[in-house]
Order: sequence, then structure tokens, then C-alpha cells
Amino acid sequence: MNPFTYHRSGDARDAVAELSSHPRAKLLGGGTNLVDLMKMGVETPGEIIDINKLPLAQIEELPEGRGVRLGSLSRNSDVAEHPLIKKNYPVLSEAILAGASPQLRNRATTGGNLLQRTRCYCFYDPDFPACNKRVPGSGCGALEGFNRMHAILGQSEHCIATHPSDMCVALAALEAVIRVSGPRGEREIAFQDFHRLPGDTPAHETNLAADELITAVDLPARPFAARSHYLKIRDRASYAFALVSVAAALQVDAGGKIVTARVALGGVAHKPWRALEAEESLAGQPLGEAVFQAAANAAMAGAKGYEHNNFKIELARRSIVRALTTVAAQA
Ligand code: SF4
Repeated sequence: MNPFTYHRSGDARDAVAELSSHPRAKLLGGGTNLVDLMKMGVETPGEIIDINKLPLAQIEELPEGRGVRLGSLSRNSDVAEHPLIKKNYPVLSEAILAGASPQLRNRATTGGNLLQRTRCYCFYDPDFPACNKRVPGSGCGALEGFNRMHAILGQSEHCIATHPSDMCVALAALEAVIRVSGPRGEREIAFQDFHRLPGDTPAHETNLAADELITAVDLPARPFAARSHYLKIRDRASYAFALVSVAAALQVDAGGKIVTARVALGGVAHKPWRALEAEESLAGQPLGEAVFQAAANAAMAGAKGYEHNNFKIELARRSIVRALTTVAAQA
């Protein structure tokens, strides 16, 4: 591990000032991804800013029924088990509980979950020479290598990595809003604008500036949020990243027609993937397998597989149908 200095911050202003004055600084929340990456030599920060003393662990209702605010240091376990989340945003509770292990969820934070790095094998091995995300301009070893876990949507010739989070897939479907603080003040980022596709700069993963701190994630009150479900397909029943996952939510009128649908996918793209074509195809339609199948086909219309992950395209279609069928069956 490379040497670094350690700074414990007591408030957000101090943390932002430290970030601004140390270009190679990293924030330490739960550390469940960062510390692994530091041990492996993938991340080599010059300074660690420990933000665990900041008062950002709240889970609270917003005024006037506008939704729920998750402080960026709220722990994954606390969010998943909170009565407000289980009742009003079940897809989020299910997604978090589908990820990692109880010990990791006790430690991992909301803000840190958003900033997880890919689990691409080449990215994690500093001795592997070709990884544009780790060493810009070095190539992409996964394109012609073992790419079973890799992307089928939104990828580029420079990177086919996937985002590993379960929680973020649910946040995409719920249209969460990310609140950040920086030297230029506070701002909000719509969830779909937070993570980036790889393009020709795969090392640039989010639209969070290097000197900004995530302070909270807001879950808006939406009529579809309570009728929702997270489906995760993986190689083993626990402690595995998604091959494909689906966060689905439906608002249905009294006549049984879909008013609003939200479908987001995990394990298939560089960012949590909002399946907008599927959502459009579902709106105004009656609940039913043929409608769900058409939505799944729309979601996968632009998909492209590689040598080892072509199976994900059909797997994603079937997973979308299954997730929507589960949501439709909810009263
Ligand atoms: Fe690196 Fe992305 Fe290629 Fe993986 S897929 S080797 S992270 S450039």
C-alpha cells in the first residue's frame, strides 16, 4: 500500500476544503470498496479524509410528503430495514439486501455505494497492462478477453465494464436526486445524470466534481414507488454480483392499465441502466405477459454481446418479464 496522510473531518465544509486543497484525496466512508482498491494498488490516494464524524446518517421524511432523505453516511443495513423504505420503496430495500453480506451492509454507506468502481477483472489487477479505466490509453483487455460479466448496453470500444451496485439500480427506477456540496455551493443532480457512459473517457465515471461531497440522496414520493420489486440473477444465491438485475415499478389505474412504468437494469452497462424504451412501451397498456415481453424486447433492441456474455441479452429479456410479472401480481 502506498503511503498517505489521514485527516478526520468534523463537518462538511472542512471535508470540502480538504478535498479542494488535496487533488489526490479520497473520502473514507464505509471503505468497503476503497480500502480493497488501495490494498491492491489500484487506488493510490495521497490523503484520506475520514468523513464518518459528519452528521449525515439521517433517514428522514421530507416535509409535505415529498419523499424521504437518506444521508450520505446512512448505512446500507439501516436503509434496507427502515420501515419507511420497506413500506414506500420496497424495491430499494430488496436491492440493498440482495447485495454484499450483512457485515458489509452494516458498514457500507449510501454515498459510497454510488461511487463503487467496476469489478472488471482487468481493472482489479495492476499487473494487467490493458485497462483504459485504470491507465487511460492502455487499451481494453476485456474486449478480446474473458468478458462474461461485462456490458451489453451503452458500452464503447474503450470500455465494456459494468457498474456493480444493486442499490443504484433501484435508485435509478425511483428517480432519486443526489444532493452534493462543494466549494461553489450546493447543487442537486438527477440520478440519471450522475453516472456516465464510458465513451472515450472510461476513467471519468460520474459527473460529481473532484472537490464535491455527496451529502444526501432524496427519494421523491412517486405513485409507482410502493408497487415495486428488485430481481437479481447471479451465479450463486448470495454474495455475488449481478449477471442481470431488474428494478421494476408500476402505477396501474382502476381499469388495470399501466399509467407509469419504471424499469432499470443492473449488470448490463457502465451505469445503472434506465430502460426508457421499455417504460414507453408499457405506458397505457394492460398488464399481461405479451405486453411485458414487448417491453423486454424494446429494452434489448440495442444490446450487443461479446464472446462470453451474449447469454445476458436473453437473460435480461426473461428477467424483465419476470420482474414485471411479480410487480403486476402485487395488490
Ligand atoms: Fe478496463 Fe473497462 Fe476494459 Fe475492464 S472493460 S479492462 S475496466 S477498460
